[in-house]
Amino acid sequence: MRLRNKPWAEEMITNHPEVIIPNPEDFKGNWQAVFGNDNPIHIEVGSGKGQFVTGMALQNPNINYIGIELYDSVIVCALEKVLEAKSPANLRLLKVNGADLNKFFDKNDVSRVYLNFSDPWPKTRHAKRRLTHGDFLKLYESILVDNGEIHFKTDNRGLFEYSLISMSEYGMLLKYVSLDLHANMPEDNVMTEYEEKFSAKGQPIYRLESQFIT
Ligand code: SAM
Repeated sequence: MRLRNKPWAEEMITNHPEVIIPNPEDFKGNWQAVFGNDNPIHIEVGSGKGQFVTGMALQNPNINYIGIELYDSVIVCALEKVLEAKSPANLRLLKVNGADLNKFFDKNDVSRVYLNFSDPWPKTRHAKRRLTHGDFLKLYESILVDNGEIHFKTDNRGLFEYSLISMSEYGMLLKYVSLDLHANMPEDNVMTEYEEKFSAKGQPIYRLESQFIT
């Protein structure tokens, strides 16, 4: 997702270091210093405009959430959402590339990775860019606790099938698979912006939970 250029975004991001952490590499292995507790940390890679990560933080105050987004023009919308929610103490954002996660997180820093409506990169030659490619799984494993989990939602059947195969081939345990999440909507499901958009068009939402095995 790339929104039109917003020249004011950079300044707004800089003005809110209490939400968008300007120097995340300083906290590698020491995220307790940011949150003031040692509650589990769940990250969302590609958090877009932030509806999911903000909703999850409000719903689960005993879990710390970090939303990760690449683009200024997008993360600034998430920042607005966090500020509207009165900056929950258990929520932060990082404006970084998910491919660099191990610059900011050490092994055991993270308990769960959320991937929601990740860019599908349908061309085979772009497969390495998919956030469920084996190289990304290896990266997630390197920052997760033992038996850490990935929770993934998408409207894209091709990406979903690819991800099931990629995770199986990696040796992950597939704990939960749904081909139509909204047919039996879990009470605690927090919808993302894309989830609202695609489900309103009647498209099924695919969801899986997978776990690294030690
Ligand atoms: N998760 C949101 C949702 O479900 O509404 C946004 C989905 S949007 C299709 C994918 C988002 O992931 C975009 O905002 C994009 O900028 C971000 N993204 C893609 N690759 C990324 C990466 N390597 N690191 C961080 N963010 C990334």
